[in-house]
Amino acid sequence: MPTAAPTPKAVLHQRFGAKARYSVEEVREAVGGCPGLAPQTRSVYRCALELPGLSVATPGTFVRKKDAEQAAAQIALDKLGIQPTANIPSTPEEAWGELIARISGFFIDENFLSSTHPLVGHLSVTLRRTGDLIGRIPLSAIAACDVKVNTLCKMIDPRAEFDPLLVLSLMYNAAKQSPGVSVSDSSFWIQSQRPYSPEAVDLAFKRWFGTSNPIEVEAILVPHVLEDEPKIVRINLRDNEHYMTYVAEKLTASDSSHVLVSRTIGKTSSEIRLYFAAPNVQFVSDISKNELACLGDGDINCQVNKRASYISGQTIYGDALLANIGYTRRDSELHIEDVNLCTYYRILLGKFPDGNCKISRDAILAAELPSVYSRFSWKGLSPRDLLCSFCRNQRLSEPIFAVSRVSCDMLTSTASSEERGAPAKSVENQCTNDVKTDKENPDSLKCEVKICSRKQEILLEYSAADTWSKESDAIQNSALKVLIWFNNYFKQLNTKTDKLYLPECPDGFKIHPNVFLQEFAMCLSVYGNAGCSDLEMCTAVGLISMDTPKKHLESTTSLTHIKGPDSGVFPSHGSLTCICYTASLVTKDKVKRYMLESHAEFEFEIGTGAVGNQLESCVTQLSVNQAACFVAELPPRDLILAAASEFSHDLSNVSRESYFLEFSVKVLQVTEPLEDRMEKALFSPPLSKQRVEFAVQHINELHATTLVDFGCGSGSLLDSLLEHPTTLEKLVGVDISRKGLTRAAKSLHQKLSKKLLVQTTVPTAVLYDGSITDYDSRLYGFDIGTCLEVIEHMEEDQASLFGNIVLSSFRPSVLIVSTPNYEYNPILQRSAMPNKDEEADENAGPCKFRNHDHKFEWTRAQFQCWATDLAVKHNYSVEFCGVGGSGEEPGYASQIAVFRRMTRNLEPICQNEDQDQPYELLWEWPNASIPA
Ligand code: SAH
Ligand code: MG
Repeated sequence: MPTAAPTPKAVLHQRFGAKARYSVEEVREAVGGCPGLAPQTRSVYRCALELPGLSVATPGTFVRKKDAEQAAAQIALDKLGIQPTANIPSTPEEAWGELIARISGFFIDENFLSSTHPLVGHLSVTLRRTGDLIGRIPLSAIAACDVKVNTLCKMIDPRAEFDPLLVLSLMYNAAKQSPGVSVSDSSFWIQSQRPYSPEAVDLAFKRWFGTSNPIEVEAILVPHVLEDEPKIVRINLRDNEHYMTYVAEKLTASDSSHVLVSRTIGKTSSEIRLYFAAPNVQFVSDISKNELACLGDGDINCQVNKRASYISGQTIYGDALLANIGYTRRDSELHIEDVNLCTYYRILLGKFPDGNCKISRDAILAAELPSVYSRFSWKGLSPRDLLCSFCRNQRLSEPIFAVSRVSCDMLTSTASSEERGAPAKSVENQCTNDVKTDKENPDSLKCEVKICSRKQEILLEYSAADTWSKESDAIQNSALKVLIWFNNYFKQLNTKTDKLYLPECPDGFKIHPNVFLQEFAMCLSVYGNAGCSDLEMCTAVGLISMDTPKKHLESTTSLTHIKGPDSGVFPSHGSLTCICYTASLVTKDKVKRYMLESHAEFEFEIGTGAVGNQLESCVTQLSVNQAACFVAELPPRDLILAAASEFSHDLSNVSRESYFLEFSVKVLQVTEPLEDRMEKALFSPPLSKQRVEFAVQHINELHATTLVDFGCGSGSLLDSLLEHPTTLEKLVGVDISRKGLTRAAKSLHQKLSKKLLVQTTVPTAVLYDGSITDYDSRLYGFDIGTCLEVIEHMEEDQASLFGNIVLSSFRPSVLIVSTPNYEYNPILQRSAMPNKDEEADENAGPCKFRNHDHKFEWTRAQFQCWATDLAVKHNYSVEFCGVGGSGEEPGYASQIAVFRRMTRNLEPICQNEDQDQPYELLWEWPNASIPA
């Protein structure tokens, strides 16, 4: 077990205190390297340190401020010749000696009473007593407020980290040997052998106030019987008595010396801890034989409080009290805060992989862990921070991110930077330099993630196949993948505890089941139905895929009371949407209503899974300024109580059958996807218009009368074509998105109706719901087929499948296919973020592709290769062109292939209604009614 050495700053602080003055300077440093892209910069730091008689500065720069400071402190230590490890015991025996001395130190040195050490808070309460009880405190009060004692215990026996009972046993036995203190034989009291001088006591009283007025504080009793629900208890503090006395009463411990205390839970600054009564054990000590044991009455394991142990990551016995009480260096009186059921359920939620994502957005019922990361639209804590806090809350080691450069042949990786919290800067800089010179392959960084137990045993490894041009993108994306993996795993805890997966998982995950199950055993035993404490059962495994394939879930939530007219501005896939919502629990008889969650402005990106399915479905059925209500599926009880804040107590007893959850939502604002905004802002006319013009030109050249738009979306092309004079007589659109098609139907209907008022004939129009990778004979042999900005939304094999089907079966005379030119992206990105320098690097910048729904974006060479192969295979010619920009390096913004069928005449096919007509007719002009 490596012991954590104090940081260089900590060592200097011990020596110099506030006389060590650090000044950190921010420097901008050039990074990046996409071809044609103006140099970007990022912030790095260097640090100067002033000590009495010595000043030093870091020669290099660091990505994090704190690393720069530590480096400066280390230089100073080297110059001063200070060995940071000098006073640190290195063996369990030395630690034992140190523990004995430290416990003594609290009692024999009167000056201690004038310090700000929180233990003095405990002492000064008991110094207000009279008689024998003066200055007598429970041993666990020391463990609760002295970090060093805990560290020493851990060095003596590493298991102490997880076991407050063992800490008590070690302290008890050490205290017996500590000079100047007396320890009780039958209980765990400790006090000074000599009376304190009145002056010393006076000093303590001056700083530490007593609690003469009664104060009530709420705490949560966590029963050790899993079937019993946690409930509120009220602790009354009064009469200047030590608070642990009252805690003991609630726990039916014989006295406060038998109360044990866990580590702090949640934020490190909080005083939330679990208190529990010491099980009936006898401590045996024989340090010479290195044997320190708790002799229980045989069966103390059956009293393990699983929930409390899971929450604290320590072994807790019997009923436990979750309370926020304690002395701190910050306050001069007892710090007390209510802990209610909501706090308890939020602590539980925080242990889930998606919990902190919900909590950090303050949207427990609405927010979900998004399935994709983009710097542009990510809200709340970053994936990397979420993964770190998940590991911390699960009492695992900090995740290790290893970024490496993938060399051009993609086979070997060179530079590697291992990062655990703080990155190894030198290597990181090297990475960046590599990218700068690597013009051939801008996406060359990948990031592997390792999750280890506290004992540094690997339990999960993730090796990414994706590469990124920015180190932070590589880290964030990999962190998100790991979080999603854990999230899927946690979702199955309730249902399938007996099923785990084989060590080799797909998608770059490798699990080490033994360590994994050991680390999550407590979690499984709390959440698994079967109470999977039996590891044998867990390892009897079958493979379950952790990654349920992402379906295009177009579920439709039924809305009630849609208010306001359709403004025509609607949230679509990829748009950043701002809503206002409330989520209320309503009793079935509608008499009572509890508002659980509300936001006046809540922003998320459609299509990323950042909110629940139902909420997203609701939002996409509305346009800006419209509002609606819907009844949502009732979330799990724990989640409701975590959201319920002040109602958590009321709601804890209500049966699920008697209420429902209602969302009321209004769409406030829609920001189009970055891709669309860039296309509009940076090109005149906008790129989509230019694509229409391009199509019109070909229609006219060809005197085309029939046109099919593959992947028509909400019909923008068909719509615009009606505004141009063309030879077209029949327009058809196909798409798989019902929502898109419905919008297309509405706008085409309007446009055609208007046209009929001024013209005698208008073209016919048809919309089909279907996949363009399926052949439908009704669309055979059209004059012109268009497929604009669609293929990149399909997987590459599907794009090829479409290419083959359209040229071999649909066989239009001319086919126009457009798709983004990847090589043009740096220009877009630079133009979209002109002020990038002023913004922190982490907060700005688009995602890797123009739109996160894109499965790929091709270079000119890739696109031309795809198109040429298809053309040759199916007897078409192909020409390349594009819109947006001049076409010179690096090509057009949107690249276009125009295929021409080489055979003039087509054999007619016989249309058989039953065959080859998989598409569903959704809308037709004339004779149409608009689909709902
Ligand atoms: N062509 C439109 C929409 C482009 S967005 C325009 O230029 O504005 C891409 C569209 O492709 C989406 O509407 C999506 O639903 C559709 N799409 C993706 N895969 C599809 C498939 N297999 N079959 C039909 N449409 C598909
Ligand atoms: Mg697109």
